[in-house]
Amino acid sequence: MPTETPIDYRAHARGLLRDTPGVRDAVTRATSHLDGNRELAYAEIDERALRDWAAGLRRHALANLDRYLLQAEERLTANGVEVHWADDASEALAVLATLVQRYAVRRVVKGKSMLTEEIGANAALEGMGVEVFETDLGEYIIQLAHEHPSHIIAPAIHRSVEDIAAQFESQLGTPSDADPEALAAAARARLREAFLSAEMGITGANFVAADSGTVALVENEGNIRLSTSAPRVHVAFVGIEKVVPRLADLGGLLPLISRAATGQRLGNYVSLISGPRRADEADGPEAVHVVFVDNGRSALLGDPEQGEALACIRCGACLNTCPVFRQTGGHPYQWAYSGPIGAVLAPALLGLERAWMLPQASTLCGACEDVCPVRIPLPRMLVTWRQRAAAAGLGFAGEALAVKSWRWVASHPGLFHRSVRAMSGPLGHAFGGVPVLREWTRFRVLPQADDAGEDTP
Ligand code: SF4
Repeated sequence: MPTETPIDYRAHARGLLRDTPGVRDAVTRATSHLDGNRELAYAEIDERALRDWAAGLRRHALANLDRYLLQAEERLTANGVEVHWADDASEALAVLATLVQRYAVRRVVKGKSMLTEEIGANAALEGMGVEVFETDLGEYIIQLAHEHPSHIIAPAIHRSVEDIAAQFESQLGTPSDADPEALAAAARARLREAFLSAEMGITGANFVAADSGTVALVENEGNIRLSTSAPRVHVAFVGIEKVVPRLADLGGLLPLISRAATGQRLGNYVSLISGPRRADEADGPEAVHVVFVDNGRSALLGDPEQGEALACIRCGACLNTCPVFRQTGGHPYQWAYSGPIGAVLAPALLGLERAWMLPQASTLCGACEDVCPVRIPLPRMLVTWRQRAAAAGLGFAGEALAVKSWRWVASHPGLFHRSVRAMSGPLGHAFGGVPVLREWTRFRVLPQADDAGEDTP
């Protein structure tokens, strides 16, 4: 998906809406549904207390990340897990290549994992001649369609059921009027053989508990459980920020993820993996590998204004509530992570020059911060990226000059009031024809001045 050229969010959004106008309805419907479920699920609990606790825990884990990572490595190793470290995507893929070779892997089943999307694991595996099967239904749908995920937790959120039925009819031979259950059954039948024949299962991790060396995964379909237990080898790619101090912390964090993500009290399946199959166990892999991936996270952790973004638990709630994301879904962001958290992470992990436009794709309405289970101040961070982009000379042509001029006018009260009166009258309509101001006035209502010359809110 990604290119090295700057991500032109606006052009991609326009193109998407022009070519597939149904996306807006599909995404708005699905995200509104998830957002409503979250509200109901939050209402059942002492939301404030749980979110405060989770926010504090995640900050504590980040502040002591080096210590907890070392402890996690020690415990995982003691459990029989082989631990690897990767500074960047290419190192992570080199570890993967070594493991593919070591275990003579020809076929891989994958549980849903945004980190493997981030590092481009599928393309790398295919380049090694390995057959890859995404086993999450949404991921499977978009893999068959040669697309990338449109949402952190709901990869095919941009697709309607009718769309998917038509796709499955041509690719899997299902009836044209197949309902969601029939579509899921068709995918399941296809994937069953892959589960039984794959040599390697690949997943991400929701968390790793440092005190016990446990990889925790939560899901709804059971495919992660199969991916981690049926093949001979399980490899988990884990962002270094996913470590939490204690196994007991999962008792609060996993239900909170589910409530924020889908409105469920807990996902249907929780897998806690502490090592390979033991001598007295009938099931499970012979070998488990955990690959801790940095890929820009250490640098982000050291950023005093943006490091909190690493507290994210990838629930997707900020995407569901974001009025901008709802219009298009995640594809115009042109990166693994989309929506408000994607727009905050992208400049840090991809570079400001490449991703400066993503923090602009926000109304700064504050809804994302309102719903975030770990209280990440996303709007403030988006503004900071915008300030940094402006300071670096990046941004839309003419915008810096317009803002500078407006600041000068706003700091001269008499001129400000005269300007407000003029702009709320016929002159305001004329401004709508000026290229830079057109962008500002298209979606904003100009302030009104009262007769006394005072501006009104
Ligand atoms: S930033 Fe907050 S709301 Fe958004 S995905 Fe992360 S944890 Fe969820």
